[in-house]
Amino acid sequence: MTSSSGASRMSASCLVAETIWKEIESTHKVNDDQLWTLHFLFGKNFEGATRIVDQRGVNKISAHPSGRFIFQVTGESRRKDQYLCFAENFCACHSFFYDVVNRGEQLCCKHQLAARLAASLGSYAEVNVSDEELALLLSRI
Ligand SMILES: [Zn+2]
Repeated sequence: MTSSSGASRMSASCLVAETIWKEIESTHKVNDDQLWTLHFLFGKNFEGATRIVDQRGVNKISAHPSGRFIFQVTGESRRKDQYLCFAENFCACHSFFYDVVNRGEQLCCKHQLAARLAASLGSYAEVNVSDEELALLLSRI
């Protein structure tokens, strides 16, 4: 529909995924076909993401008054680490740096997928903070 400068660099699979996220967003439901395709695109990471969303592991931290937001995603390890994550382009976890940025083997990590899935379904907890608090959070990444 619209083309930003970033869109032209997206791979075909990203575009497919993007279309599916939009569909899920419009219905707040995910059907078997969509699940199948997302699983095909993202494999194990998507399985992890669905588990995280099922366990209500996604918080959306919204800052006022700017309206900026970031997702906080609970990891699957026993320590239940929480990662700050922008669904489109950043996660604070190791997998993001090693598998996504360094090696380019994955399109994104499971926390980003969990954030995207939760955002599309509307199944996240909303946490309201001030802009100062958000800035402080981001400065610690
Ligand atoms: Zn991550």
